[in-house]
Amino acid sequence: MTTASLCRLEDHAAFVARHIGPNAAEEAAMLATLGYATRSDLIKNIVPAAIHRQDALPLGEFTQAKSEAEALATLKAIASKNVLKKSMIGQGYYGTHTPSVILRNILENPAWYTAYTPYQPEISQGRLEAIINFQQMITDMTGMAIANASMLDEGTAAAEAMTLLLRMSKSKSTIFYVAADVLPQTREVIATRAAPLGIEVRTGLGEAGDGFGVLLQYPGVNGDVPDYRALVADLHAKGTLVVVAADLLALTLLAAPGEWGADVVVGNSQRFGVPLGFGGPHAGFLATRDEFKRSMPGRLVGITIDAQGKSAYRLALQTREQHIRREKATSNICTAQVLLAVMASMYAVYHGPSGLKRIAHRVHRLTSILAAGLTQLDAKIINSSWFDTLTLSVSDAAAVHALAHSHGINLRSIDAHTVGLSLDETTTRKDVAALWHVFAAGKPLPTVDAIDAEIAGALPGELLRQSDFLTHPTFNRYHSETEMMRYLRSLADKDLALDRTMIPLGSCTMKLNAASEMMPVTWPEFANVHPFAPNAQTAGYREMITQLEAMLCAATGYAGVSLQPNAGSQGEYAGLLIIKAYHASRNDAGRDIVLIPASAHGTNPASAQMAGLTVVVVACDEAGNIDLADLRAKADKHSANIAAIMITYPSTHGVFEESVKEVCEIVHGHGGQVYIDGANMNAMVGLCAPGQFGGDVSHLNLHKTFCIPHGGGGPGVGPVAVAAHLVPFLPNQQSSGYERNPQGISAVSAAPYGSAAILPISWMYIAMMGSEGLKSATEVAILNANYIAKRLAPFYPVLYSGHDGLVAHECILDLRPLKELSGISNEDVAKRLMDYGFHAPTMSFPVPGTLMVEPTESESKAELDRFIDAMIAIRSEIDRVVSGEWTLADNPLVNAPHTVEVLTSETWEHGYTRATAAFPLESIKRNKYWPPVSRADNVYGDRNLFCACLPMSDYE
Ligand SMILES: *Cc1c(COP(=O)(O)O)cnc(C)c1O
Repeated sequence: MTTASLCRLEDHAAFVARHIGPNAAEEAAMLATLGYATRSDLIKNIVPAAIHRQDALPLGEFTQAKSEAEALATLKAIASKNVLKKSMIGQGYYGTHTPSVILRNILENPAWYTAYTPYQPEISQGRLEAIINFQQMITDMTGMAIANASMLDEGTAAAEAMTLLLRMSKSKSTIFYVAADVLPQTREVIATRAAPLGIEVRTGLGEAGDGFGVLLQYPGVNGDVPDYRALVADLHAKGTLVVVAADLLALTLLAAPGEWGADVVVGNSQRFGVPLGFGGPHAGFLATRDEFKRSMPGRLVGITIDAQGKSAYRLALQTREQHIRREKATSNICTAQVLLAVMASMYAVYHGPSGLKRIAHRVHRLTSILAAGLTQLDAKIINSSWFDTLTLSVSDAAAVHALAHSHGINLRSIDAHTVGLSLDETTTRKDVAALWHVFAAGKPLPTVDAIDAEIAGALPGELLRQSDFLTHPTFNRYHSETEMMRYLRSLADKDLALDRTMIPLGSCTMKLNAASEMMPVTWPEFANVHPFAPNAQTAGYREMITQLEAMLCAATGYAGVSLQPNAGSQGEYAGLLIIKAYHASRNDAGRDIVLIPASAHGTNPASAQMAGLTVVVVACDEAGNIDLADLRAKADKHSANIAAIMITYPSTHGVFEESVKEVCEIVHGHGGQVYIDGANMNAMVGLCAPGQFGGDVSHLNLHKTFCIPHGGGGPGVGPVAVAAHLVPFLPNQQSSGYERNPQGISAVSAAPYGSAAILPISWMYIAMMGSEGLKSATEVAILNANYIAKRLAPFYPVLYSGHDGLVAHECILDLRPLKELSGISNEDVAKRLMDYGFHAPTMSFPVPGTLMVEPTESESKAELDRFIDAMIAIRSEIDRVVSGEWTLADNPLVNAPHTVEVLTSETWEHGYTRATAAFPLESIKRNKYWPPVSRADNVYGDRNLFCACLPMSDYE
């Protein structure tokens, strides 16, 4: 014993065994079931030899896995290189106090952050209620009829509003006017989005009546609070529609844009309790008129009835969404910002309307006091009205910034003679005094109290808000911490997230989101950094980001990565723009066709149309593979015009197609680029690399493969990774001076590094796994999927498989033959799984009538067996319908899920027992999940669209 070396005692791979579910014995048992001796034998039969990676993942200093403690210490040292100052930079991002009850019970609580997008409404009522609170809050604050369930950021929300107006406008104009005082980063995202669609963007309001739409900022970036009522009336008279980008906190005091004619209102809810995080993630918002609702982008929560006629929440109007409309989609949004929308809505729930008004009044009062003092000190304030922002004319801006920094304050940098500053909830009297110091030039300082006694506010009286908001009881009853804590707990208890059960959603990769990965997100060194803070203060962030980019290059085999896109869909969009920029740089801009296989995810064709490309669909053969003959024919036909092909690998059918290299070669042969959708990267890390087998561009989903939690439908990060010849085209953000390369495309997100605050999650994952650990994770993900496929195949046919009947990291169970036989659908099985305590697999994607199962490496054999047992038991229930023992009209499948209320009703008139309904397996008695509602009625909800909080009488 005494001879054990220190090295042996320090288990560097300790985290790997925590992340990967099955232990050695379980792994051996699963391999035996599959008839393979070792994991590498199995993998050799699955990953085509031609693409099997020979090198170890080249992770440099991260090759060897770090322990949790070591990784946290290393990252803490990096984070400490960020310099924390009070950022009064404003420009759309403000200091805020995240209420501790929200920090602890939402942001740091796996019941909220590990949940999936609420496509299965019956197990998602808690988060659906939280999101509908967000919609109600936005509707109230903006004075509009309807709001969606969050946007990726303010810049993309404004761009989506522009295209919404283009669709709704009766004008023939293709000109969009952007007021000069719109946030610079918003103007840039709009310009990026407008170009491929043939929209001409003009700055300023010159001949705005000629445009189809106009974007106003309220208050403007320089602080002014203009009276836009006459302008909007005039624009409407000329047939021009109006988007207003508004500040939520200001709207507690100012008349809502909906009250003065706005057609769409967009913005960012960040300052409602969501940390700055160097630019994100935060929930953007978009609200509009009732007439425009069916054309809105993004997700929308609505109310419907369940099978018992009771109210239930669900996602409404889904036929608008990209996954249904594909190349006819009007937006590609898939993953959004749900967790942050939940936080912002709960900030409003916690403070209530009077609390929010008090916060806003205080911010405004301090600003007015600051302004009066500055005037006494002879400083020159340019704006004549303000809510929280002042713009000052100075003789030497650099000197002013330097002095402000010495007082621990960042100001907004405008030009050599102009600076700006914005106050917020966190600003104190001392901060105001410090600002006076900066501008005093040695003069005696005023005092806050003296000025407070003297001055009036600076909001124009005619613009003050007269209307009430947030009058719904939800915003007025949870103001004590006890009530709030219990409200959050009661909502979380309604939902099935990863903290209760595996979520075997194909294509979504619901793997462990480890606590150590999550911890750095709320470290002040990462949480409290403004996206436009001076570079000298953000060295820690940029070091972590550079390391993560290198890690992702190693994993993908590409030469460069941008972390700017806020979701996979945005990575696709950026990737296609990069491809267009590349062709244009070679005077080959006529290429406007993108080939997309029929099995592609809906975001692929939706992104293609946003990039101004025409989609040509390539067929798949009976085995689910790309039909090479059809590909050749279409490639020949469109040869000179092919911009790219977009394929998913392994295919969305869950198979490593042997022909992938050939597919890439065919397209390259015609001068096209190869886009490989990296959503299935969890099957490839360490085993093969798209950049090595023919890909030119891929997006990754850090919220799938690299452990960022799904948050109930966001946040996500969709890095775009490219081969060397495309590196010069990675996105910049000119408006903030972030330029990687002069040839780079303009910004696709509002912040230079997108959702930077959640990047530490993926950094931690890779650092704690190391080269070998990441490869093991991939192999076990594949092993787990094959174990499920093999065990379930006798009960449910597996639709597609490769060599030796093996699948990749997911498998499609074909329920169509059973439906023929029994009338029981894949949806019935999905709902019945809820009675067994499971979240359903992916339904009807990529093949209607099927279920796609992806277990991930994080699930133990015990959990896989629990799922398999449930699926086998459900199969025997289907057999009882087939045999006629149960009728198709009355059986536990079609009636699923069963609520407590149904199960305990006085009368029970079903052909099966209550026990069969509630406890179909003995083991369920030990750990029962009770679905809070019966099956939600989709059709009713869309016919009777209602997207705000229920009247309180409904849930009492
Ligand atoms: C999830 C997914 C996407 C879209 O990613 P988001 O982050 O949700 O925008 C694209 N393609 C495939 C195959 C996916 O599974």
